[in-house]
Amino acid sequence: MEFPVCSFDLKTGIFCPTCEQKIRRREVTEIDLKVMKLLYDFEKTFPQLSSSRYLKTVVHDSHAFVVFREGDLLRLPFPQQSNLRRKLSEAINMETRLLEDVAAPNRFLQELVSPARIVAVNKIWLPDQSVETRIVLDDERNLRINADAASAVAKEVKGITLRVDFERRRRRLK
Ligand SMILES: [Zn+2]
Repeated sequence: MEFPVCSFDLKTGIFCPTCEQKIRRREVTEIDLKVMKLLYDFEKTFPQLSSSRYLKTVVHDSHAFVVFREGDLLRLPFPQQSNLRRKLSEAINMETRLLEDVAAPNRFLQELVSPARIVAVNKIWLPDQSVETRIVLDDERNLRINADAASAVAKEVKGITLRVDFERRRRRLK
């Protein structure tokens, strides 16, 4: 597998000056190191991972989103994908989701919120010139992750300021 740090460093746990600097600049975080070390070990169990590239892990409220290069997860048959997801979840003790860094922003967002379905996407220009992307999902019940988590991942992976709305909301009891 390809990592943002040297595989050799991951194996030995001693980081060369280049990797050390990435860690110091927080381009590579504690959770990245933990997940990369695990993936490095899992490569023996999942040989299809060997041509994959790990990008980053985003953590939100004890949910971890592990992001790979676009196309990498397609190579991993579904049962292995869920097996890998389970192994990672157990090892880091967080509900884990595997994602691809799909280049097209709307496709990335669709993958992120799946099995909920995006029925509308709007761009809203804010007074400070920044842009907010508002997506409308079919049904709140179909969103398996927290809407705040979706926004955090969209921001960290794609730089998108995301707002999530729903066509149908879960009925709340008062
Ligand atoms: Zn290194």
